[in-house]
Amino acid sequence: MAFELPKLPFAPDALMPFISAETIEYHYGKHHQAYVNNLNGLVPGTAFENADLETIIKEADGPVFNNGAQVWNHTFYFESFSKTGKRTPDGILANAIRDSFGSFDVFREQFTKSAAGLFGSGWAWLVKNPDGKLAIVQESNAGNPLKKGLKPILTCDVWEHAYYIDYRNRRPDYIKSFWEIIDWEIIANRYK
Ligand code: MN
Repeated sequence: MAFELPKLPFAPDALMPFISAETIEYHYGKHHQAYVNNLNGLVPGTAFENADLETIIKEADGPVFNNGAQVWNHTFYFESFSKTGKRTPDGILANAIRDSFGSFDVFREQFTKSAAGLFGSGWAWLVKNPDGKLAIVQESNAGNPLKKGLKPILTCDVWEHAYYIDYRNRRPDYIKSFWEIIDWEIIANRYK
């Protein structure tokens, strides 16, 4: 069965002024779509012809992994945002952040540093370890923590295509905006 580009859970202009409709048009409409198209072109005739994306991330390498992981990563990224959502975590996720990092502010500072400092293209991730503790990991290119047995909770895409239209080379300004559009109710549901 062919992979499909999932529908965005918000209108293209919903994240303005933090992420423009033009960025969504390119990042979602062209880049995310291209990974879907590439994957659909790659898997026929391979062991991954009927595999789901999680299996592809865990077991594939090369172009099948790269495109499959990028499809999953972008869906996960876009589905973290909303126009009006809970802008700080509460409940068990807030407790886990406190237990793992000391406070939400310390977590945000460490995650920001990780995303800003990632060399080249990639993704900063908040992950849940098998013991329930949270950690921040950097992944280059299409890297996804599922491959290491870690559960992804939140991610920030720091490929230039994620911010170049709105912020040019200013990755730190994009990351500042990233915090303004996260819907923590969605993120908390991933931690459960
Ligand atoms: Mn991207």
